[in-house]
Amino acid sequence: MKKRVAIVGAGISGLACARELVQQGHEVTVFEKSRGPGGRMPTRWLDRDIDPPLGFDHGTQYFQASAPAFIELIEQAQKAGAAAPWAGSVVNLGYGLSSPHTGSTTRWVGTPGMASLARFMGQGLDIRLQCRVAGLARSGDGLYQLTLHLADGTVRVESGFDALVSAIPAEQVVPLFNDVHKPLASLAAAVESNVTWSVMLTPREAVKVDFDGAFVVDSPLGWICRDSSKPGRAMGERWMLQATADWSRLHQDYAADEVAKMMLDVFCNVTGQLVEEPLAITAHRWLYSLPSNPVGMLCYLSEEHMLGACGDWLNGARVEDAFLSGHTLGHQLSNAFDSTLIQ
Ligand SMILES: Cc1cc2nc3c(=O)[nH]c(=O)nc-3n(C[C@H](O)[C@H](O)[C@H](O)COP(=O)(O)OP(=O)(O)OC[C@H]3O[C@@H](n4cnc5c(N)ncnc54)[C@H](O)[C@@H]3O)c2cc1C
Repeated sequence: MKKRVAIVGAGISGLACARELVQQGHEVTVFEKSRGPGGRMPTRWLDRDIDPPLGFDHGTQYFQASAPAFIELIEQAQKAGAAAPWAGSVVNLGYGLSSPHTGSTTRWVGTPGMASLARFMGQGLDIRLQCRVAGLARSGDGLYQLTLHLADGTVRVESGFDALVSAIPAEQVVPLFNDVHKPLASLAAAVESNVTWSVMLTPREAVKVDFDGAFVVDSPLGWICRDSSKPGRAMGERWMLQATADWSRLHQDYAADEVAKMMLDVFCNVTGQLVEEPLAITAHRWLYSLPSNPVGMLCYLSEEHMLGACGDWLNGARVEDAFLSGHTLGHQLSNAFDSTLIQ
């Protein structure tokens, strides 16, 4: 029998959960506070009127696919032009020397931007964008009610959901779910996420290095990447610089302009290149970037309360972990609906 499910969050985990439930014949509504789906796998679009559009991947840099369900999704996305392998050369970089980064895994990216994968996954789903879930309640008949804050400042209430799913970062689970389901809030309260400063750099000229991505050692920078080397991107030279978790935490309250300047200096040092008066440079702070101590369970489900949770904070700190968490929860929730029918 068809059930109504509300999912809070349209990141990879929420979308994976929604797809699985819809495939099993359920009616799913995904509520997302941002203007688009994808969560921490976004693209900062600078010009969408050109072909291909111009943007930066300022969150997830690339992802790997090893589980059959995720491989199947990525193959479908590739056929639809929404994902492709990135063939950029990746090195370890330290003390002015670079050495190849070993490992034979395929690095996948969304095309023409990282956010394209979420758009592909969201096709055909009922996703309410710019809709922040601000309150949750469960009525006497066991149905869930959501209080929504919309972009135009209005508040709306939607009710009658048989099940509720959290697909948001741990730090946001705690205040939202504390009143409606304390065990979930307590589980999430033990998880801490790193801060990450990401800097989007458009130099005037090509940076003369013989790699496209580098894991930087013993430096405030942890990762640098020629964003424009990814497949399906607009012409030009664009770099993403990501500070380490330690540096980002120490500088989390610095002004974005100041961080951008500091990161540019470090970039010049580690690459040995002078990048003067870039065309553009912008820093973005991720307050909750990667969970440093994920719980270590695929997903959470209380069958008694028909309430579940998925996301990287449960299962790992990667896109594939988030996908598997949502996919598994969708499957488990659907089985739980079936077993209540049998009883
Ligand atoms: C800087 C950075 C770099 C990364 N690099 C990589 C990488 O290279 N490879 C890799 O595999 N992974 C990487 N990751 C991790 C990866 O992005 C995450 O593991 C994955 O995207 C998490 O997905 P999720 O669905 O669990 O959560 P999210 O993507 O955070 O999705 C949660 C969604 O819920 C929404 N939301 C939150 N609260 C509410 C509310 N109250 N109402 C409605 N909506 C709400 C948010 O807007 C968001 O869209 C990186 C992350 C960051 C930040």
